Amino acid sequence: MNFFQTHRLVKAFGGLLAVNDLTFEVEKGEIYGLIGPNGSGKTTVFNLITGYYPITSGYIEFQGKRLNGLPTWRVCKQGIGRTFQIVKPLRRMTVLENVMTSAFNRTSREAEAREKALEVLDFCELTKKQDYPAKGLTIGDRKRMEIARALATAPELLLLDETMAGLTPQEQADGVQLIRKVRNSGITIIIVEHIMHVIMNLCDRILCINYGQEIARGTPAEVANNQAVIEAYLGK
Ligand code: ADP
Repeated sequence: MNFFQTHRLVKAFGGLLAVNDLTFEVEKGEIYGLIGPNGSGKTTVFNLITGYYPITSGYIEFQGKRLNGLPTWRVCKQGIGRTFQIVKPLRRMTVLENVMTSAFNRTSREAEAREKALEVLDFCELTKKQDYPAKGLTIGDRKRMEIARALATAPELLLLDETMAGLTPQEQADGVQLIRKVRNSGITIIIVEHIMHVIMNLCDRILCINYGQEIARGTPAEVANNQAVIEAYLGK
């Protein structure tokens, strides 16, 4: 049994096949990169995994269970957490309240939600900023808070969508360190990211897609030297 897998996954929006026959497996404990040019279907894959969109055909399995047709909150309870490409914090709430809000996905008890939120804030080195309003954070801290929010749902598989966009080189380096720390804590990761050195540094294996279809897969070195990948990125 694979820890996570998709089988011949398809998503059609009208006549557009945003995801077209994608089969891939992720092993427990790895950092798996999903890359491809803009519009290639990466976010749609995340939306299919998390139940935001219904699957057109194919299936997704997590720890041997089918995810097809599950609502987002059930997917979350099965142990899959995610961050979003566009960060939408609850701006007037504090950092702690934001993170507690997602901890309530796993518990209805306030004391437990607070405890979980404080634990992940400490893990993400945001304890000192727990009482800041979310809107006052730097982009780097906001991205960190998004990871904290996803961790507060106690995931076994974490989907990271462009958590590095807009960050300074130092913030990117800190982000890479945080993601490694998440993995070392036993959480498996699928990461969508445009910044190539981040992908190449972090991932054990990479799947590259274009127009919803696989164009290459392999280790970072294999994918970086693949002609189809180079052409897709150069827009040939
Ligand atoms: P990526 O994340 O790789 O940039 P997306 O998954 O966002 O790509 O988009 C893949 C394709 O699907 C694009 O052509 C996009 O316009 C289309 N698409 C995404 N979401 C929708 C939607 N809700 N309705 C119609 N088309 C969509």
